[in-house]
Amino acid sequence: MGTPEDDGWINAEDYDGYIPFESKEENEKRLAALHEKQAAANIVGDCPACGTHVIEREKGFFCDNMECHFALWKNNRFFQAIGKEMTREVADDLLNCGTVKLENCVSKRTGNKFSCYVDLTLDEEERPHFEIRFPQKKRRRE
Ligand SMILES: [Zn+2]
Repeated sequence: MGTPEDDGWINAEDYDGYIPFESKEENEKRLAALHEKQAAANIVGDCPACGTHVIEREKGFFCDNMECHFALWKNNRFFQAIGKEMTREVADDLLNCGTVKLENCVSKRTGNKFSCYVDLTLDEEERPHFEIRFPQKKRRRE
């Protein structure tokens, strides 16, 4: 397949069309900046396994390191079992704070409503492990 690179146009995978600039170098520079910006918009946090960025994709939040298999799937049974979803906000808290506070959870088993924290840790194979923790009663500190 022919590419239009020779005449100073360059194809951007993530861009619908071609971006014309004076030189091929200029195009590449602009595209690199564009890709960086696009990638930055999808960075949710740092991978707890390897420290690389975790990127939001269609089916979940995946480590950008090809050799690392860390992923938080949007279709997540642990969260579904308490009536919650792995949203970007949830993934954000988990990756950046190691925990997320969830209110109005509903136990699929008992139907009870509750609030809790869900802590994220890694198992021996560096896969995400979730654990429910109940908030401690508020204490006045004065
Ligand atoms: Zn990773």
